[in-house]
Amino acid sequence: MKCQKAIESLKNNGFSVQYFETSQQACDYLKEQLKGEIIGFGGSMTARDLGLYELLGEQNTVCWHWKNPADIKRYPEFTAYITSANAIAETGELVNIDANGNRLAATLYGPPKVYFVCGHNKITPDLTTALDRARNIAAPINAKRLGRKTPCAVTGKCHNCSSPDRICNGISIHLRPMSSAKVTEVILIGEDLGA
Ligand code: SF4
Repeated sequence: MKCQKAIESLKNNGFSVQYFETSQQACDYLKEQLKGEIIGFGGSMTARDLGLYELLGEQNTVCWHWKNPADIKRYPEFTAYITSANAIAETGELVNIDANGNRLAATLYGPPKVYFVCGHNKITPDLTTALDRARNIAAPINAKRLGRKTPCAVTGKCHNCSSPDRICNGISIHLRPMSSAKVTEVILIGEDLGA
């Protein structure tokens, strides 16, 4: 299984990990886990493609600035947070890039339950290649999707630009779960999902 090494390393680093072969299984699991929460969502194509906002909205209050821009201000109310990662190192680290900072803040010092929902395409051999993936694969795809006027949106590679539209203003590396969070869980799915 492609994820086995990453799962072992993430667990060794203290993360809770759940692996599912399919998106449907992961959705069923999250629906069972999260009831009566106020769930914030980070900008995540994976969460969008899995329909998690709609699914979890059946039994929780869901807040997502992609659906309602004002929801970003409800951040202090969130009891749980769902996002993805831009890359997962097989050595057990999670990498994320952010422009605004809301997603990084929520995963670093935010709600007590944080879930990273990720397809197996996010896995790279080590932290160096994870940072490279975030910068040279995920960020250019997201910049293009968002219509940002950045060189990476044109060439598909990072140019460490100074564009006002730059989307990489901060990078987080979760070496271990943050001690402020009660639950930090990586939901790994054996499918290609997100950028
Ligand atoms: S620094 Fe600029 S060119 Fe590089 S990935 Fe970020 S937005 Fe794109």
